[in-house]
Amino acid sequence: MQISQLSRKNIQALTPYQSARRLGGSGDVWLNANEYALSPNFDLSNRTFNRYPEAQPEAVINSYAQYAGVQPENVIVTRGGDESIELLIRAFCEPDETILYCPPTYGMYAVSAETCGIATKTVPLTADFQLNLPEIERQLDNVKILFVCSPNNPTGTLIKRSDLLKLLQMTAGRAIVVVDEAYIEFCPDATMVPELANYPHLAIIRTLSKAFALAGLRCGFTLANAELINVLQKVIAPYPLPVPVADIAAQALQLQGIAQMQQRVKEVLALRAELQKNLENLPLVETVFASDGNYLLVKFKDGQKVFKTLWDQGIILRDQHKALGLNNCIRITIGTQTENNRVINALKAIIE
Ligand SMILES: *Cc1c(COP(=O)(O)O)cnc(C)c1O
Repeated sequence: MQISQLSRKNIQALTPYQSARRLGGSGDVWLNANEYALSPNFDLSNRTFNRYPEAQPEAVINSYAQYAGVQPENVIVTRGGDESIELLIRAFCEPDETILYCPPTYGMYAVSAETCGIATKTVPLTADFQLNLPEIERQLDNVKILFVCSPNNPTGTLIKRSDLLKLLQMTAGRAIVVVDEAYIEFCPDATMVPELANYPHLAIIRTLSKAFALAGLRCGFTLANAELINVLQKVIAPYPLPVPVADIAAQALQLQGIAQMQQRVKEVLALRAELQKNLENLPLVETVFASDGNYLLVKFKDGQKVFKTLWDQGIILRDQHKALGLNNCIRITIGTQTENNRVINALKAIIE
């Protein structure tokens, strides 16, 4: 018998998350993972490696709580936002319960659920990439967690606050609503944090991977009321954060680090506006969708051809043609001025 056949049936059936790194490519312009183009610089201040780290490093928890405008008891730090997704599923879903999410959206909700043997329900976003609330309400039976990504990856759309509030009211007492705010630093006024006071079943996912330019660090957070956080504390690994990660995260969350992040956001927003305008002027572009993140979703006349042509030139974008309703669409991370110009010039050179 093959060893793989000894693995659980749901793992045998699982298609792993197609991360940008797993998809490969060889290039010098990487605009496929919504990373920041340049690395910030840090020195380690803690060199005690023989001892286990603090389970929830106080310096990280306290500074993130202050930054997010909550109390330390409302924060749990995880190995990237991705670990938060899995912790929530492991902690809240019985084997016969389901999660619900709204495609096209982030792929990890489904992958984490399938890994845990939890079934998934999908209610597609509407044509303008908003929640289909009546259909969600019809599907609520047996749903224990609803994942909503806002700004949504890959569409860039903010989900209307009024709809999120209706969703929270509709699910009160029966399910957890997870709002994934991985990109919230690019539109900070849209955060749902003020609603934590009103909704004990709201959980908010955050990360240092995007606006904080620290995807390599693997550091994320869940914000929620203390009772929900305490449930997650029960299932998280004993020492999830390596000493160097906690060290650098704490530095990045000092006032200076936050100011640097806000400066980066400003620059990315200006570059996004410029890239959007340049894309809209190209005849092979059909639509550039409005975005509140550090990326643009673009519909081309022939998306596959565009993706392959740029790939062959070492410009690596994120193909979305398999995502629900996103035929001919490509997601482009906002890069440096030079990288964005490389994209525009490569597109100009394509003969239709
Ligand atoms: C990047 C991202 C995350 C979390 O990424 P980590 O690197 O694991 O922190 C979560 N949700 C969405 C929608 C993302 O794009």
